[in-house]
Amino acid sequence: MINVTKTFLPPLEEYQTILKRAWDTGWMTNRGVLVKELETQLKSYLGVSHIIAMTNGTLPLQIAIKALNLKGEIITTPFSYVATTSSIVWEGCTPVFVDIHPEYLTIDETKIEAAITPNTSAILATHVFGNPCAIDAIELIAKKHNLKVIYDAAHCFGVTYKGQSVFNYGDVSTCSFHSTKLFHTGEGGALFCNDEDLLNALFYHHNFGHDGPLDFHGLGINAKISELQGAMGLAVLPYMKTILDARKKVVDYYLEAFINNYQIQLLKLRADIHWNYSYFPVMFKNETILLKVEQALKNNQINARRYFYPSLNTLPYVTSKDMKVSQSVASRILCLPLYVGLSKTDLKRIVQLIMDQIL
Ligand SMILES: *Cc1c(COP(=O)(O)O)cnc(C)c1O
Repeated sequence: MINVTKTFLPPLEEYQTILKRAWDTGWMTNRGVLVKELETQLKSYLGVSHIIAMTNGTLPLQIAIKALNLKGEIITTPFSYVATTSSIVWEGCTPVFVDIHPEYLTIDETKIEAAITPNTSAILATHVFGNPCAIDAIELIAKKHNLKVIYDAAHCFGVTYKGQSVFNYGDVSTCSFHSTKLFHTGEGGALFCNDEDLLNALFYHHNFGHDGPLDFHGLGINAKISELQGAMGLAVLPYMKTILDARKKVVDYYLEAFINNYQIQLLKLRADIHWNYSYFPVMFKNETILLKVEQALKNNQINARRYFYPSLNTLPYVTSKDMKVSQSVASRILCLPLYVGLSKTDLKRIVQLIMDQIL
């Protein structure tokens, strides 16, 4: 079986050696030595000044909305994983969808201002497949209208924009370290923020609101990452170069196969970025072709995934106008298998199966 991704597992002995340090202390969570060390290593690897690692990539979104005290409407993208929208609704705010750019697949910044009302408090946008939003334009709009900006940067591990980590942009940026993501801790995630007061509030929120063992700073929840997750992160991080090199090879293979094929549209990457080879989406002319391709792959035990489907403005718990571009893209986009260890033979087979269906 070939899946859209395969979790990178470090050698078990290396994981166990790191894990033994947690055993020796008898300390399994509440920011033990492993989580602290992971945060230190991540700061240096990513080039960020602050990080709070958490137990997944969804709670950081919810905590960011909570800590920024957002109310009313939040402008967001319909083309993302469901957690982007559900976090807004979960925090009692209303998602207001703005359609996406047909090639970059991120929120269309030229349509944001038309969606702003007196009730708008923020923009929550996703850097889709590691491709950053129009960061500069969004920053200007946010300043002009006094809005907060949160970036769901779940796909962006290692991505840089204009020479620095993409996590440095926005009031808060979040990442996911889920097993399907580029860098992982089993389940896990993080948030990034460069304002020290806000960072403290975010920290308290993720730890029940504790400000020391007996005092409470305010309302909180439990989003703490455990030492077991920390150990996985410390075991995976030294392999990032291996992971990126292997994924680049797969991406280069797909690119060569599809780049001049007018039946297939590929993701257009922004200028001034260093990308991370996190996903390889292909867009077909229509959903019928996509379904044919998907089925042909399935018949050969190959599971590509419809990231992202459906367009989030069609979720049962939101109301929205039609989002023409997002709904069109969502109906005909497929992410192809991309992971360390995907063989040339399998790649050749995947490409051939797709070609057979679109000819
Ligand atoms: C994976 C993902 C999340 C959620 O992260 P978890 O770690 O699974 O909670 C949020 N947003 C996007 C865009 C994602 O891809």
